Amino acid sequence: MTLSTRIAGLAEAPTLRMAAQCRAMQAQGIDVISMALGEPDMDTPEPIRRAAQAAIDHHMSHYGPVPGLGSLRAAIVAHQNSREGNRITYAAEDVIVSVGAKQAICNAIETLIGPDDEVIIPTPSWVSYGEMVRLAEGMVVNVPTRREDDYCLTPEQLRDAITSRTKLVLLCSPNNPTGSIYSKTNLDELVAVLREYPQIAVLSDEIYSALTYGQPAVTLAAYPEMADRLIIVNGVSKAYAMTGYRIGWLLTKDKAFVAACTRLQSQQITCASVPAQAAAEAALTLPMDESIVATFAKRRELIIRLAQEIPGFRFSAPQGAFYLFPDVTTYGTADEVTEYLLREAHVAVVSGTAFGCPDCIRLSYAIAEEQIIEAMRRIKVAIEKYNFC
Ligand code: PMP
Ligand code: GLU
Repeated sequence: MTLSTRIAGLAEAPTLRMAAQCRAMQAQGIDVISMALGEPDMDTPEPIRRAAQAAIDHHMSHYGPVPGLGSLRAAIVAHQNSREGNRITYAAEDVIVSVGAKQAICNAIETLIGPDDEVIIPTPSWVSYGEMVRLAEGMVVNVPTRREDDYCLTPEQLRDAITSRTKLVLLCSPNNPTGSIYSKTNLDELVAVLREYPQIAVLSDEIYSALTYGQPAVTLAAYPEMADRLIIVNGVSKAYAMTGYRIGWLLTKDKAFVAACTRLQSQQITCASVPAQAAAEAALTLPMDESIVATFAKRRELIIRLAQEIPGFRFSAPQGAFYLFPDVTTYGTADEVTEYLLREAHVAVVSGTAFGCPDCIRLSYAIAEEQIIEAMRRIKVAIEKYNFC
């Protein structure tokens, strides 16, 4: 068979590729510690599991509405309307529930972007944004952010990147892979620029919004004047340890967009898994399990302390999500160091190249404290040896 040119050129998600490589090594009996995958390691909280079981027992086994169960959409609205800084009043009809935030983002891009439309992506950025834009035949405009700006896009950088073809700006806060959070002042400045370009839409990926360790992450829905061109994306994967349930969503006040995106989803998946939607509703309506954030907060402190002891690792402390993103150029390129750490230390990390930053490596600290301690010990030993090569 001959593959379509669009798919032939599509890269595999490097995060998932590294996770698979790590699993294959573990299956061969090699003791690899994986800091590769951005996925909470804890069990889904029990009340959520019970809600999923109850949904199955109550025969919620039929197709559901394309944009999601009404009760889940209402719960998503209540969740979003209670977010830090939210000033746009959403209603259930503004929500589309998809198979993870990944599909919500992919569908939003597919709905908005066509040949030659430009999408501004501040880098380092999550691995899938660029490929999704390319799938839609759009043009990726990567804008490298700087460590001294805490990897946040500046208003000047945004203004310089805008052209007459710019259709969409993709923001992610807290960010994967840097853990940076856009402050309200950062956002005020970016919105001030966007005010001059009312034709440009913004997709704000807020999947890590609940995982912050100091300043909360302000939602982009803090700006009512952006309401008709703003898409907020969120989901239950990260904050509720529900990655395998595959429930994410988008919210927007643009009714034509919701109608079009719903049509797309009707041809594509019909709807997200109905029992998983019931579980997601329980996650949003039951009291939040604070232990997940508290666990990540402790691990974050631990990994920062241990990384500071590794000579040549330069990083700014992540404010959210569960990643550390040190610059490793003292030792070589991120690809070289990633390959070396897997081979020599049996620790899997992801090269920053995958995120548009060939100077850094991403370490996920969504693993147990003992594993973090052992992984960082191995990295330190290997890196010190590397220094002498
Ligand atoms: N956005 C970012 C920035 C992510 O890191 C991820 C990771 N999975 C997603 C979206 C997709 O999340 P989901 O599991 O809900 O598809
Ligand atoms: N988002 C996670 C990560 O960055 C999971 C893998 C993926 O969806 O690409 O590792």
